[in-house]
Amino acid sequence: MITTHNLGFPRIGANRELKKAQESYWRGELSKSELLEEGCRLRKRHWQLQKDAGLHLIPTGDFAWYDQVLNHSLMLGAVPERFAEADPGELDTLFRMARGRAPTGKSVAACEMTKWFDTNYHYIVPELTKGQQFKLCNTSILDETAEAIEQGISAKPVLVGPLTWLWLGKVKGESFDRLELLDSVVEVYDKVLAKLAEMDVEWVQIDEPILVLDLPLEWNQAFESVYNRLQSCKVKILLASYFGGLNGTTTTVVNLPVDGIHVDLTRDPDQLPALLDRLPAYKVLSAGVVNGRNIWRSDLKQILQQLSDAEERLGDRLWVAPSCSLLHVPVDLDNETEFDHELKSWFAFAKQKCEEVSVIGQALTGGHQAQDPAVVKLISDAEKAASDRQQSQRVHNTLVEQRVAALKGDQKIDHRHSPYAVRAKLQHEKLNQPEFPTTTIGSFPQTREIRQKRMQFRKGELDEQSYIAAMQEEIRNTIKRQEALGLDVLVHGEAERNDMVEYFGQQLDGFAFTANGWVQSYGSRCVKPPIIIGDVSRPEPMTIAWSRYAQDQTSQPVKGMLTGPVTILCWSFPRDDVSREESCLQLALVLRDEVVDLERAGIGVIQIDEPAIREGLPLRKADWPAYLEWAVKSFRIAASGVKDETQIHTHMCYSEFNDIIEYIASMDADVITIETSRSDMELLDAFEEFEYPNEIGPGVYDIHSPNVPSIEWIQTLMTKAAQKIPKERLWVNPDCGLKTRDWPEVEAALNNMVEAAKSLRHAD
Ligand code: GLN
Ligand code: ZN
Repeated sequence: MITTHNLGFPRIGANRELKKAQESYWRGELSKSELLEEGCRLRKRHWQLQKDAGLHLIPTGDFAWYDQVLNHSLMLGAVPERFAEADPGELDTLFRMARGRAPTGKSVAACEMTKWFDTNYHYIVPELTKGQQFKLCNTSILDETAEAIEQGISAKPVLVGPLTWLWLGKVKGESFDRLELLDSVVEVYDKVLAKLAEMDVEWVQIDEPILVLDLPLEWNQAFESVYNRLQSCKVKILLASYFGGLNGTTTTVVNLPVDGIHVDLTRDPDQLPALLDRLPAYKVLSAGVVNGRNIWRSDLKQILQQLSDAEERLGDRLWVAPSCSLLHVPVDLDNETEFDHELKSWFAFAKQKCEEVSVIGQALTGGHQAQDPAVVKLISDAEKAASDRQQSQRVHNTLVEQRVAALKGDQKIDHRHSPYAVRAKLQHEKLNQPEFPTTTIGSFPQTREIRQKRMQFRKGELDEQSYIAAMQEEIRNTIKRQEALGLDVLVHGEAERNDMVEYFGQQLDGFAFTANGWVQSYGSRCVKPPIIIGDVSRPEPMTIAWSRYAQDQTSQPVKGMLTGPVTILCWSFPRDDVSREESCLQLALVLRDEVVDLERAGIGVIQIDEPAIREGLPLRKADWPAYLEWAVKSFRIAASGVKDETQIHTHMCYSEFNDIIEYIASMDADVITIETSRSDMELLDAFEEFEYPNEIGPGVYDIHSPNVPSIEWIQTLMTKAAQKIPKERLWVNPDCGLKTRDWPEVEAALNNMVEAAKSLRHAD
């Protein structure tokens, strides 16, 4: 029999029950015991659901009140000193580490949070100090596993591996080699495994996704000593890697003293033959064949073909699973009532993916004998859905496909007419911009009234005309306030936008939207990414009317505001039938048309936001250039349809630029605004060193904080900036958009910003 299992299930609940319960608890509206009960209910429901789907081994320990990496920090007692006296077993300690505050205990600075590999999920960064000692503190993993066993679940506890946990940690204070801590960390893992063995757990999954990265040699070598040490445990270990292939480490990994290896065959199907050749005879190979990173229904027949050789050679030693934890997909497609039948037949969310795994397992177990008719039907249904999709009008748009194909022969389409120096001269003459011009990043406060109007319009409670009038009123008001502040390049404020990607997706053909497709981003924060289902085209202009209205209210230039192709792609679920590059180029062409239309409507400054360029980077450095090339090309295609005198801006936040500066420069935006204030302008070093040739607006204040920056503070920062970048090429602006702030603080901050810019102009 082929064993089927899952690597992790989304914990938020199909209706975001966990989010709602947590937030009520934080507000003091739900008691701790009620919160704990909700967690218990969700775990029970999710285990049962996976069992009902037919999976043999079901993950435990994948539940988290905030984040699974934080769970491990608490398990290890890695609680930073500022939370001193906190009990790592206490729920409020966990919340304080994650958010800085909890219903009980003193508020302190929260731990840092960052992206989990190349996903949109954020984990809480472990803090590591020299000489740190670890001991088993929080036993959630044991308790939850016991809970599952009691409910009759075949539990397979899941741990983030010791090496991955350490790798994700950040050294605080005196610097040292994190591997020095390994022994003490592994001791705790050893204890945990021993206790799990006492509970009669047979298999434990240990996730070491860092195996797919370019690891330094010492880290690769450390795997042997860690797993040698853990091999005396009385549980069987399934070592899991995902988000990529094992590449250079295959031989080392298959020879580690563990009982099974899980690999991601969706990201790297080509690693299978080598694994089959090298896998020692006693080991299990878990094939991650159902994509845990997207929402597409699997073509089961194709997967069965992919695995036929493996099944023949391994027999029962072949296991089947999703490629990675299902944390990254929405919970249940059955919750989507808005999709028509055709659309619905193309997708699979977490629950459906578990069912797919189970069917694959059953089909493989049946081998070549007569199959269960129900299984046969499921396979042929999936095949039919895949072929229907391949031929669907919703997916293919010949004109779009031809236009992208034609890009190859067009050397000019991603080039502005003249080089920057020529354009800059024309732009400065036309726009008559002063030295240190001031601007903002696009959004202004999204007040309760704005959100209410948008909601009423969506629900049909407000007719279109009244809605437009209400938004125009907001725009006019925003323009007047900016004029009064004395800003140089104004914006319309983005009142009409709920989200910078969804807003565009909803106006484009080739996108679908879920009603309930929530995915955890961090803690209680969830996002509902749009789905790119087919070729992307623009039935009508998207932003022209709003921008033109804004421009009509003032004689100052108003900046048109667009989300760039790479960002739209990165923040959506991509297609699986074409490359990311192909979809990105399609988006680029759509945006190019919009940019040209904006120019034609009299908009002389246009910003194309690309905050996601960096996060789209592949996990391995060797794959960076290929990605960056099409990403930059897409931006350039979007930006290059306009005349020299039209000024193109771009904006990027939360970015480090050092290692990609040449690509950032090759985007050739006339002006780039970036988040820099918290780095004390240090992020500009990369631009200085590279002799970045175009204009830069380094953010002068952190928009995440309600504090109003003083004039002197901004002057000091800009003076620092002017030591790195010639002042003729500097702009003055906040770090990012202002939509989360209130008007009084925005006006106070921008007032100081404009004053600071004025005084800088007169400084010499
Ligand atoms: N134009 C967007 C805004 O101002 C940019 C947001 C972003 O960079 N993430 O909100
Ligand atoms: Zn930003």
